[in-house]
Amino acid sequence: MSEVLFSSVNFSKYEAGHTLPAKFERLVKKMGLGEVVRGKIVAIKMHVGRGIGFTTIHPMFVKTLADEIKANGGKPYVCDQTVEGAASRGYTQEALGCPVVDVCGVTGKYFYPKEVNFKSFKNVDVAGHIMDADVLIDLSHVKGHGVCGFGGACKNLAMGAVTDRTRGQIHGLEGLIDWNSETCIRCKKCVESCNHNANSFDDDGNYKVFLHHCTNCQHCVMVCPNGSISMGDNRFTERFADFQKGMALCTQKVLEGFAPGHVFYINFLTNITAICDCWGLSTPALVPDIGIMASKDIVAIEKASIDAIKIENLLPNGVPGGDNLSGKTGHLFERLHGKNPFVQLDELEKLGLGEQQYSITEIN
Ligand code: SF4
Ligand code: SF4
Repeated sequence: MSEVLFSSVNFSKYEAGHTLPAKFERLVKKMGLGEVVRGKIVAIKMHVGRGIGFTTIHPMFVKTLADEIKANGGKPYVCDQTVEGAASRGYTQEALGCPVVDVCGVTGKYFYPKEVNFKSFKNVDVAGHIMDADVLIDLSHVKGHGVCGFGGACKNLAMGAVTDRTRGQIHGLEGLIDWNSETCIRCKKCVESCNHNANSFDDDGNYKVFLHHCTNCQHCVMVCPNGSISMGDNRFTERFADFQKGMALCTQKVLEGFAPGHVFYINFLTNITAICDCWGLSTPALVPDIGIMASKDIVAIEKASIDAIKIENLLPNGVPGGDNLSGKTGHLFERLHGKNPFVQLDELEKLGLGEQQYSITEIN
């Protein structure tokens, strides 16, 4: 059973020392970074957000982490897929006390190629500024994700510590609804029936489905007068699962470059929004803030994070239209996006990256 450290947002007094930033300082000291980072180059992989999104991890927490690494003799830097515009959201060298860089360099061409063989997914291009580090801190903002249900530590690496080519290949696993061009009469009833703006016709009259928005409600299938759309019994499930399998495989390739005990995971369960920080926007939280988790086991921390996000705590204004997701089954993220978020955990576990059994140690 793997240990997950946890600092709750709950507080008992109006005193700074009882609030989350102070607890985070104590949690970071308990992580065991001290012995590992001395004299080492430490990559802090995080999502610095996009556009006018403001619900990523606050720079003050990142500085706390960087300061602790430096205090123990390590050399930290923050990196993300792109740090363009990051300064406008507060992620600067001045604020964080360490460099802020693009994972694949300013050209996007600095990477180490590796090969995998999973359907159309063939190339894991591990970002140069990830592979070159001695120690990796996977610093993740937990939120929902349209394609995999949940985005945490696995998604932070699989989609954020690689090149555009690799990201594209993982997205290429999505696939989805089968459409028969010859029987379709372009009446567009399917588009009108979709409550999620997930389907459309392109300029050439071809039917398109955006898996990120599609929840497998099958309204489009049911309204089609000609039976031109089909999903098959397990087709939707298989295809969204492929995306998560690809993410797990990619994560394995990123992690295999690090010596045992040289990767740490921190998950922020605050501002837990419906969709990824890539969207460059911030919506209200889906549930009240929970706290911060840390672990050396990526599977355990992801499981503990998903378990802590409960449907009974749903704040409906975090969902478009104030939907309370009633009448649906499964985890909150599955009700929201139509994809089971636990698939990625099963895959990570099968690949030997950790275990879903965990114990919580609270750090106050
Ligand atoms: S409802 Fe069926 S026939 Fe009409 S546009 Fe959509 S796929 Fe084509
Ligand atoms: S299955 Fe539902 S959400 Fe997906 S495209 Fe069809 S109508 Fe839209």
